[in-house]
Amino acid sequence: MDLYAYTIVSDVCEGIGDCIAVCPVECISWAEGKTNAKGTAFAFIDGETCISCRGCLNACPIEGAILDEWHPELQLV
Ligand code: SF4
Ligand code: SF4
Repeated sequence: MDLYAYTIVSDVCEGIGDCIAVCPVECISWAEGKTNAKGTAFAFIDGETCISCRGCLNACPIEGAILDEWHPELQLV
């Protein structure tokens, strides 16, 4: 199913968490107990809940960690 939602690229995320703090619908969560290719924690977006507000993308300091399109295959959860 195609969703109008954002995506966190698991292997680009560095686990900083600024995105979680700003999401107005609380649809970003930590991938509990998992690490990515960089060896850090990472977060993921619930595409069913995301309202594509861009808040997370504006807050994230890591270029390329958040995409303004839904690509669930890039979220390793
Ligand atoms: S997507 Fe960006 S702000 Fe969110 S946890 Fe990953 S690096 Fe941090
Ligand atoms: S685009 Fe908005 S609603 Fe979607 S995950 Fe980012 S902050 Fe949350």
